[in-house]
Amino acid sequence: MAQAQSRLSLLDQALEAAASGARLSDDQALALLLEAPPHELAVLAHRARLAKNPAMIVTYAVDRNINTTNVCLSGCRFCAFFRPPGAPGGYVLSPEEIDRKIAETIALGGTQILVQGGLHPEIGVEETCRQIRRIKKNFNIHVHGLSPPEVVHMAAVDGMDIDQALDRLIAAGLGSIPGGGAEILVDSVRRRIAPGKCSGRQWLEVMARAHAKGLFTTATMMFGSLDGPAERIGHMALLRALQDQSLARGRGCFTAFIPWTFQPANTALAHLTPLTAVDYLRTLAVSRLYLDNFAHVQASWVTQGAKIAQLALLHGADDLGSTMIEENVVAAAGACFRLDRAEMIRLADDLGYQARQRDTLYRLL
Ligand code: SF4
Repeated sequence: MAQAQSRLSLLDQALEAAASGARLSDDQALALLLEAPPHELAVLAHRARLAKNPAMIVTYAVDRNINTTNVCLSGCRFCAFFRPPGAPGGYVLSPEEIDRKIAETIALGGTQILVQGGLHPEIGVEETCRQIRRIKKNFNIHVHGLSPPEVVHMAAVDGMDIDQALDRLIAAGLGSIPGGGAEILVDSVRRRIAPGKCSGRQWLEVMARAHAKGLFTTATMMFGSLDGPAERIGHMALLRALQDQSLARGRGCFTAFIPWTFQPANTALAHLTPLTAVDYLRTLAVSRLYLDNFAHVQASWVTQGAKIAQLALLHGADDLGSTMIEENVVAAAGACFRLDRAEMIRLADDLGYQARQRDTLYRLL
């Protein structure tokens, strides 16, 4: 009974802190995630979203994911996209294929490409810099690319440290870094779902060094595999602390937080039951409240579909991500939602918001 009262009291404190805009402690965030009444949580998160982004707009980008290779040494247990080196079905895109995809993206009004791939045993920093230089020479497009595990891997292939790798990539034309490969940064979970990938500490180190060089990045969280609520809050705590460091230098270089749920189909964790829409929306809402130093939170229509993504706009999200002219990684795990620009406009419009195209750095176009 006494324990129930102390839990209740923590929840009350958490609701009060969230309502007043005070910074939430980890315990308070966990109490909200586990126990807050769903409607109250949504209202608080939406209010926090409006405090950060008061304009009645919902933003989106037009872009394309270009997955340069699916050959990967990492073998993450949650991934249905990769092929081990030498296995059938492995590919590396040719420069001509990459250029054709970029030309199509630009023709559709795209402003950025999200370039990511597997951890190919022979593709290092120098080879990637050659690709980026070619793209920047041929096209006027922002290159948002190379998640921290790729940077760590490519640096190792070429015998560089992280600073050298980032300096070369930035000089070649890398414009910003996506927050992919974060999954859950708490290593007790991370080691079980992605034993071949860089550690949570290395992921944070790449982002910290990128921020110190003035590069903007996003931050992601893939949840609902072997993590629980406490690990989700632990993950957000690491991101909030890093954004505080970035802000202390003058600007918060994490532009957005992008949470999505694990998609089990065709993965080594296919026996796990997918989270429900409520799990997704609660976690999203708590992220908006807890990550008080992040300006933007994205809805994940790619994993949730358009209708839940629309509801996400009432649970703290202010952005619909991008039209993703092409997406391969989540599709490999069985989620095949599509969302074009007209539908994005309709989703926002129905809520009384105007949908506005933005660039990678959230400037309206
Ligand atoms: S998630 Fe990325 S690093 Fe992990 S196996 Fe898939 S392609 Fe490789």
